[in-house]
Amino acid sequence: MNEFDLIAQYFLPLTQGRPEAMNLRDDAALLSVPQGMQMVISTDTMNQGTHFTTDAAPANIAHKSLRAALSDLAAMGAEPLCYQLAIAFPQKPDPAWMAEFTAALLEDQQAFGVFCSGGDTTGIQGGVLSISITVIGLVPNDKAVKRSGAQDGDALILSGPLGDAFIGLQILRRDLHSDDDAYFTRAYFRPQPRFDLVPAMRVHAHAAIDISDGLIADLGHICAASNLGATIHLDHIRYSEAAQKLIEKGGFDYKNLLSAGDDYELLLAVPENAVAEIMKHHPSAMQIGTFSSRHKGVVMIDSQGHSVPFEDSGWSHF
Ligand code: ADP
Ligand code: MG
Repeated sequence: MNEFDLIAQYFLPLTQGRPEAMNLRDDAALLSVPQGMQMVISTDTMNQGTHFTTDAAPANIAHKSLRAALSDLAAMGAEPLCYQLAIAFPQKPDPAWMAEFTAALLEDQQAFGVFCSGGDTTGIQGGVLSISITVIGLVPNDKAVKRSGAQDGDALILSGPLGDAFIGLQILRRDLHSDDDAYFTRAYFRPQPRFDLVPAMRVHAHAAIDISDGLIADLGHICAASNLGATIHLDHIRYSEAAQKLIEKGGFDYKNLLSAGDDYELLLAVPENAVAEIMKHHPSAMQIGTFSSRHKGVVMIDSQGHSVPFEDSGWSHF
């Protein structure tokens, strides 16, 4: 099976017959941006061994690659439209692998309302499987939510629990055991890009980022871009029931979760008067702190109001 057969058999169905993709028979896709909208575009690459384990199932690789890429669109306040799929194969792909990989992509296409508009297929000698996805989304003119807009006094909102994906990775590496292994590994392979928050973000959020590198690191990016500091109240962070169970059993230090990536929850800066409205519609969201112009960088405090050091504590990658 050569490259063209692969494209016709496995990638063509991912276009779902959309005219923009021209049945993958031209050099590129042709997209129109509706009047009054801007195009939002972002690329993410996943490399075997670095971003997914060598024994990862093809469906899991597909879910993680597409969902992680889509998360950047949610973080901008955009609706997803389509994606480009570039794959480098270290050897000729096996038909069963291809079938499982593309079936999982199609499943997520339906879940998130996107189609595949094209891509690139290459061989990579002496390399590993690499999947690069470019997602394309739309946002009304000037409504994109950037990292740079947080304001003094804004509330810091976290869209959902942290750390489940990180725990999933520990389980996959056999460094950790739990009663909820399947729950955690699913969280690792199938993050949920938070498009449910997009309508509220467009109205209320001054700044946003998706947490791919860990809460502390990614909050640091908002702070730097907005020229502000932020305080995190550690006791305001809720974990999933399964993670809480693991923490209480004593097998796991919750602090590890503060620098854990891969959950793809959103961090938002919103004015205090919008917090109640967001909580009403998004019960998993929590206010975990505030932004301030009185200091720079990220500060964490415990339930007694004492600052918790983290720079040299050895449990974050700072
Ligand atoms: P070119 O040589 O001009 O780059 P290709 O042979 O790479 O053209 O691609 C032919 C068509 O197949 C294009 O429409 C391209 O978008 C599509 N395509 C190639 N690889 C993939 C892929 N992995 N997924 C989806 N579409 C693909
Ligand atoms: Mg090409």
